[in-house]
Formats: sequence, structure tokens, C-alpha cells
Amino acid sequence: MGQMKWWGWGDEEIAFTHADKPELGPFLEREIDLEVARVASRPVGFDELEIPEPTLSAELRAALEAAVGPEHLSTDALDRVVHARGKSLRDLVRHRGGDLGRLPDVVVRPGGEEDLVAIMRAVVDADAVVIPFGGGTNISGSLEAPADEDRTVISVDVARMDRVVEIDEDSRIARIQAGAFGPALEAQLNARGFTVGHFPDSFTHSTLGGWIATRSSGMQSDKYGDVADLTRAVRVVTPAGTLVTRPVPTTSTGPSVREMVLGSEGRLGIISEATVHVHRVPERRVILGYLFPDWRRALAAMRAIAESDAAPSVTRVSDAPETRFSFATRKAPTAVDRLKSKGLQTFLGRKASFGDLDQMCLAFVGYEGGKAHVATQRKLVGKIVSAHGGLGIGSSPGELYDQKKFDTPYIRDYLLDRGALADVSETSAPWATLPVLYDNVVGAARGTFSDLGVRGYVMCHLSHSYHAGACLYFTFAFLPSPTAGPGIDQYDRVKSAIQQAFVDSGATLSHHHAVGTEHARWLEEDISAPGVAMLRALFDGMDPGANLNPGKIVGPAARPVAADGDGGGRASQPA
Ligand SMILES: Cc1cc2nc3c(=O)[nH]c(=O)nc-3n(C[C@H](O)[C@H](O)[C@H](O)COP(=O)(O)OP(=O)(O)OC[C@H]3O[C@@H](n4cnc5c(N)ncnc54)[C@H](O)[C@@H]3O)c2cc1C
Repeated sequence: MGQMKWWGWGDEEIAFTHADKPELGPFLEREIDLEVARVASRPVGFDELEIPEPTLSAELRAALEAAVGPEHLSTDALDRVVHARGKSLRDLVRHRGGDLGRLPDVVVRPGGEEDLVAIMRAVVDADAVVIPFGGGTNISGSLEAPADEDRTVISVDVARMDRVVEIDEDSRIARIQAGAFGPALEAQLNARGFTVGHFPDSFTHSTLGGWIATRSSGMQSDKYGDVADLTRAVRVVTPAGTLVTRPVPTTSTGPSVREMVLGSEGRLGIISEATVHVHRVPERRVILGYLFPDWRRALAAMRAIAESDAAPSVTRVSDAPETRFSFATRKAPTAVDRLKSKGLQTFLGRKASFGDLDQMCLAFVGYEGGKAHVATQRKLVGKIVSAHGGLGIGSSPGELYDQKKFDTPYIRDYLLDRGALADVSETSAPWATLPVLYDNVVGAARGTFSDLGVRGYVMCHLSHSYHAGACLYFTFAFLPSPTAGPGIDQYDRVKSAIQQAFVDSGATLSHHHAVGTEHARWLEEDISAPGVAMLRALFDGMDPGANLNPGKIVGPAARPVAADGDGGGRASQPA
């Protein structure tokens, strides 16, 4: 795997373009006043970056070299810049503008757990800071060292630790090293007929350890579970020794230590490996497209599917604005495509449930398993879709979505080049809360666009359905106003309004993107003051020297915990 772009997403040779999507340019111009032909801003050149000399004592360097071998220790400028942050919008804007923040002083690349143990010993002895690095794709500010950190900062890039160590075929679990990236992990498992079934949109550039440390969720989570469900056991190198949990199906050993590691963002130690569920590669895998007349009926259908005997692997439905955006990103249609789409529009126009085609919502439902299983599932879902006024549109839209989902992440860089800011915020809530949550969030985003005097766009999809509720995933974009202050401050107002609407509506601050520093200010409202105090006690107890990725999730204690514990106040933002 090549190194990620230092200023943006993914591989150097891949870029998003409107050139092959005839409707996209007019759509962006109409919806957010964007002139797609005008590249307004490019990242500063790497040579123009101001990169301070690393702080690394001869003693610590010697200890780290002894741990990983001199060839796996780097103070190279590009290495340090790539390892400084993740890929949140704030990370990208600052990196592109040459504001690099507190760079790590050194990047080390361990080859196994023994190396991690030696690194940890060296870090604690030298009172340095260690930040585990997987693929660097988090979007919650989970990697950046505090701006005022005066100790040596060591980025531990675990990418060399990428092996599937063992598959227990009887138990359908596999031991896998934490640095395995999605494609490498799946290739090794597929060769033996297995899959983990975890496919986040960042799959190509993220790692098992990163998924666990952020409580990630993949597109097929309805069948395979989120990473928190499929992780059976962990091994974590901590200052107190190596934490090992057993890969049992469940256990009654007090509060779950495994769960404490899930979502810990490097604050408890470095995950060296995990034992995860694996499944036999399914005989069939189909993603079908459906159209619903409007969002209300689309949501109701997803809820009914979750309550039914159907067990799809994917349930995802876009609201009307996201559906219009999806249609606008279609590649140039062939004559046959045009004919089909005209036929469909005529058909929908005549179908009583589809009144205003602008309100139409596009859904994908995925089915996996044996031929008979897939056929039964399709039938069950088909009935529910019809009962909610929807209709099936076959496999081509689903196949297209499946193919392009790993390319879509490149669109943020494309928009930034044109001066527009685009980002996402996602949450989860009980089924009964979802309709009002949706209205509140869309209202909050549009209200803020209006306050800023910009024409912004906000869109949403539901994905990841559960017994009790689902995830709503919002995307927003706008061209900052020239008169409303720095663009990043305008972005912060929109993002904060959305996040605040989440917690005010009874939803969580994030379903799968973690807390980091981006979302930490809403943590107390989400989990209550004693919840924050519990996390702080856990981190302080395991890491008394504050050597492990300090400042993420909760910062240092800022004020006494409220006695009533009703979670009503705001937590202070971590350093
Ligand atoms: C375009 C895009 C699409 C995305 N799509 C999804 C999606 O569909 N689903 C989803 O869940 N997320 C998604 N994300 C977010 C991101 O990919 C996830 O948070 C992912 O789990 C991060 O993994 P990583 O290997 O890149 O970790 P990193 O970004 O390197 O690290 C994330 C955090 O985990 C810690 N960490 C990493 N490895 C270890 C380890 N071995 N031991 C201890 N701590 C460790 C780091 O210190 C840091 O705090 C997306 C991000 C982008 C930019």
C-alpha cells in the first residue's frame, strides 16, 4: 500500500472529476453556487511547508531503534507530515494551507508485538508520547498531538503487522494483526474461503486496529455486525503489560474489558492483534435498488424490514436531496440508459404513490447467502417495499453504487480545490426518534446556512439498521460566504449546529466515527457527567503518565463532576 496523499484522500493517481458526469456541474452550480470549471485553491507545495526539526534524544532514538530496527525508524519530513493527522475536513483544510499543527517527531514501524512492548517501555522510560497509527483515515481528530505538547511525540505505524495469523474454521474466528488494511485482510481470508464482512467506505486505506479503536461500522453491518460485534478478543500492549482477553462467545467477568478497548483511540495502549468473527464467503451477493415516493414512507419501510423476518446484509435509503445528488453523479448515459430512464419516469408519473418525483428516495438493500436464502429475503423485502408505495428497480443501480463507493471519498478534495467545504456527521437513535431527529438536523443546517448567507446543501441517508433503531448519516456542502469570516469558522458553525441537534434530539454524538477531539465537546451531554468521569478514571488509571495519545475522547480533568449527574452541562473541550 502506497503512502496516502499528505494533503488529501487516497492515491496520488486517483482524482474525482465532473468531466464524465454531465449533470454534476449544473447541479453544483444550482445548489451551492459552485463554478466547477474554476479551480480556486490548491494545496501549498510540499517544499513551502515549514517543518520543524524533530525533538528526539539520542537515548530515546537508540531505544526505539533497538525496538524496531534502525531501518524502521523515520524522521523523514513527508513521513511526519502524513502521520500528523487524520482526514477530517479540519485536518484537510489546515494541511492544505500549510498549517501542520504539532507534528510527530518520529515515526516507528514495529514488526510484531515484541517490538510494541519494547516501544512502550522506551516511551514510558523517556516520558514521551505515543500515538498509534493505522491508516490515518479517522475524521474525528483522533491522531493529532496537542498543540502545546513539549515531550517527544512518537507515531507508531503498525502497517507491517498485517498478517492473518490463524483461522479457527470450526469456531469461525480468526486471529489477525492490527495493522492489516481492508484489502490485505480480505485477500488472505478469501484465499481460505472466508470474509470478515467489514466494508467501511474507507476500507482500502484503514486497518483492523483503527476500526477497533474507533468502533467502526461497515456497509454490510446488518448481517456481519459493527466492529464492536465482530471483535471477539483483543491483545493490547499497555504501560502495565500486555492486556489479553479470551475469544469466548460471551463472558460474565464484570464490566467488559474488551468493550473498554473498543473505541479507545489509542488511549489505553496499542492493539497488536484481535480475534474476529469470520464467515464463509457467501454463494450469492446481490444489491437491489428500490424507489420510494418520499422520505417518510422510505423510513417506515426500513423500520418494517428491521422488524420483519427478512435479514438483509445492507439496508440503505437516501432522502430526496441525496437521491437527486446520486442521480446527478451518473456517468454519461447510453441511448439505452436514456430510454430506460425515460420509461421509468413515465411509469412513476402514472403510479399513484409517486406524486412529486423530486421527493423520490433511492434505496439499496443487499442480500447474501445461498440461492434459496437470497430468493426468500428478496420476496419478503419486496412485499414490504410495495406496502409502503415503493418499487424495485433491479440490480444495476446497486451494482453501480457498489463499484463507485470507494471512489466517492475523493470528492472532498475536488470540492476543496474549488473553494467549497463538504463534510459528514452521523448518529444513531431509536426508530421512534428518527423522523423528528431528521427534521431537527436538516432545520439546524439550513438555519445556519441562512445565518451565514450561503446556499448550502444538506442530505442524508439511513444505513445500519438494528432492532431498536438505525444510523442517520448527513452530508453537507457549501461555498463559504466572503463576508462571514474564515471558511473554517463558518464550517464549524454548520457542523456544531448539526452535532448539537443530534444530542438535543436524544441521538448520539456519533454512530461510528468516534469522539477524538472533534466530538469531545458533546460527550458529557451524550453519556452524562459520571460517564465522562468513569472514562477519565479509566484512562488516568491505565496511563498515569498521560503518555498514550493524550487529549482524545476526554481531556484532562477541567472541573469537578456535577453531583446530580444528569448530563445537562457541556464538557470542556480537551486540549
Ligand atoms: C472518506 C472516508 C470514509 C469513511 N468511511 C467510514 C465508514 O464507512 N465506516 C467507518 O466506521 N468509518 C469510516 N471512516 C472513518 C475511518 O475510516 C475510521 O474511523 C477507521 O476506523 C479508522 O481506521 P484507521 O486504520 O485509518 O485508523 P487511524 O485513523 O490511523 O486511527 C484512528 C484512531 O485509532 C487509533 N489506533 C489506530 N490503530 C490502533 C492500534 N493498533 N491500537 C490502538 N489504537 C489504534 C489511533 O491512535 C486513532 O486514535 C471514513 C473516513 C473517510 C475519510
